[in-house]
Amino acid sequence: MNSFRADLHCHSTCSDGTFTPEELVRHALDKGLQGLSITDHDNVSAYALAKPLADRLGLALISGVEFSAELRGVSVHVLGYAFQTDHPAILDLCTKHKNRRAQRNHEMFEKLAQLDMPLDEEALSLNAQTLGRPHIAQAMVDKGYVDSIPDAFKKFLAEGRPAYVRGELFSVEETLNTLHQAGGVAIIAHPHLIDRPRILNQLVEMPFDGIECFYSRFDKSRNQRWIRIAEKKGWLMTGGSDFHGMVKPGVELGCSWVGIETFQQLKDRQQHAVP
Ligand code: AMP
Ligand code: ZN
Ligand code: FE
Ligand code: FE
Repeated sequence: MNSFRADLHCHSTCSDGTFTPEELVRHALDKGLQGLSITDHDNVSAYALAKPLADRLGLALISGVEFSAELRGVSVHVLGYAFQTDHPAILDLCTKHKNRRAQRNHEMFEKLAQLDMPLDEEALSLNAQTLGRPHIAQAMVDKGYVDSIPDAFKKFLAEGRPAYVRGELFSVEETLNTLHQAGGVAIIAHPHLIDRPRILNQLVEMPFDGIECFYSRFDKSRNQRWIRIAEKKGWLMTGGSDFHGMVKPGVELGCSWVGIETFQQLKDRQQHAVP
């Protein structure tokens, strides 16, 4: 039998991935994984959709989410695991994010229209549970405004580009509290993307439970720094691919993963979180 591998970071059609939660379950098994957590942006719907199939096919599933948050105005992604998905605090934060995105997306659509790139905001909003920039980028490709999704980001949608709107963000503190209230753990996502040393130093002093040490296709040497932090703090060392399907070519499900020990710790935690 293959040794146990679980991918703890991927996105479904409940946010900006191209695979449905059920398709992710089947894809994980095809890739030889035995465990999975679907970590949609600001949305926890995938778990309930994927769980019956995962149980039937024998894939171990734990609840997951990737919340957008901010610390001193800097954007920080927080991964959450093993929380109760129907906890009122979680549902409340998801609703706040949904409203935040609606407002922010509306402002981005306005900017794009001013740049002579009108899009059908209503149709796009109806089609996605968590509408984000990748959806807007895809719509721009479909309309022929840009050649590709990376092109849309580079020219218009990336931070600092003319159609970018940051929108309201919720604090890391609030996000941590919410995950802990719902019985879950909170993890610093892809720490290499936080290029502000002061912010990283501050995050490391906050009551996180872990840090994402294994990410995408990075090799071991890139991870040492995060492993050392986790060891020092006694934190969980999580990992995953950040698989998005077709909108992120070259990143396959399972290209980063954790073994049975980390997964089991989360699984135990999940059993406590679910009454
Ligand atoms: P949003 O949550 O709407 O701010 O969108 C953020 C998501 O956009 C990220 O999680 C990625 O999936 C995607 N993204 C961010 N930057 C890029 C980029 N330069 N090229 C392609 N996708 C990107
Ligand atoms: Zn994404
Ligand atoms: Fe992220
Ligand atoms: Fe992600």
